[in-house]
Amino acid sequence: RAARSSGENVRVYLPTMGQIFLRRFQLVTQFRQALETGQVKVHYQPKVALPSRQVLGVEALVRWRHPEFGRLDPDEFVPAVEAAGLVDALTGFVMDQSLIRVRKWLDRGLRIAAAVNLSVRSLDDPNFPDRVAEALERHQVPPELLTLELTESGVMADPQRALPVLRRLHTLGVTLAVDDFGTGYSSLAYLRQLPVDEVKIDKSFVLGMGTDLGDLAVVRSIVELGHSLGLIVVAEGVEDDAARDQLAAMGCDVAQGYLISRPLSESRLEAWLQARTTQARGLRDETVLTL
Ligand code: C2E
Ligand code: MG
Ligand code: MG
Ligand code: MG
Repeated sequence: RAARSSGENVRVYLPTMGQIFLRRFQLVTQFRQALETGQVKVHYQPKVALPSRQVLGVEALVRWRHPEFGRLDPDEFVPAVEAAGLVDALTGFVMDQSLIRVRKWLDRGLRIAAAVNLSVRSLDDPNFPDRVAEALERHQVPPELLTLELTESGVMADPQRALPVLRRLHTLGVTLAVDDFGTGYSSLAYLRQLPVDEVKIDKSFVLGMGTDLGDLAVVRSIVELGHSLGLIVVAEGVEDDAARDQLAAMGCDVAQGYLISRPLSESRLEAWLQARTTQARGLRDETVLTL
């Protein structure tokens, strides 16, 4: 996208509406095949406890290496996949890949949870909780090692509609997290009524808290509110030591962000964990620490 002036002519290079729709159409029609041919992959970003830095889990974040468009981030294709009614295939794929990893870690004596992002559309599907139960059973993973993340805006758009499916998911014993918290018009009263266990402070506030007192106040109040409701509070977007130390001092329970690690491919995650497990063995046998 660029604008350039040549004499009196100003030429603006922007994709036309037609090109945007064409690309969206291509992504949607190619998606299932992309899942089957390995173009779509799951990357994993570690979540660590504060202040211990013990690795508690990883968040699964989908990536698509498209033969024509190159590396696509989820914001570029997940909305199209959702709109086309294909999100079940995406969620199923990401959940399977994640549970395979959790099972492999368990077999090596590591208890590391996986967090999968859900589309709010999944909550319209009364069979969704059964599919989650079936996946846990198939992969032989205990429910407490699976977290399901839903965005605040998604759940809060219609909490009464989301409630029955959320209750059934909660009954399975999986952890339910409200993602991107602070960005929507949250009714705190509704948050109290929802069967959720974890709240994730949106990264925009965490990124801003070092320089913006308003962001700092939002972060502080979400930590306090979350704890008063008995929730685990997670901060995403932790990019530097100062943010991590400030969050730890506030009592925030979990940190996720580039400071700890970027989202990693399966093999790079294994190397990352390996380095920490080896270091931790000398300290305490069953724990995994980050340094
Ligand atoms: P999210 O669930 O809030 O995930 C966190 C996003 O923040 C990720 O972006 C991650 O790469 C990024 N991030 C993590 N740490 C930092 C940091 O320290 N600084 C900054 N600036 N960013 C950080 P990503 O991977 O591009 O994903 C974007 C969104 O796409 C996710 O936001 C989630 O809502 C959605 N998404 C990702 N994977 C899936 C999926 O499998 N299914 C569905 N339905 N949505 C997904
Ligand atoms: Mg998330
Ligand atoms: Mg988020
Ligand atoms: Mg997000």
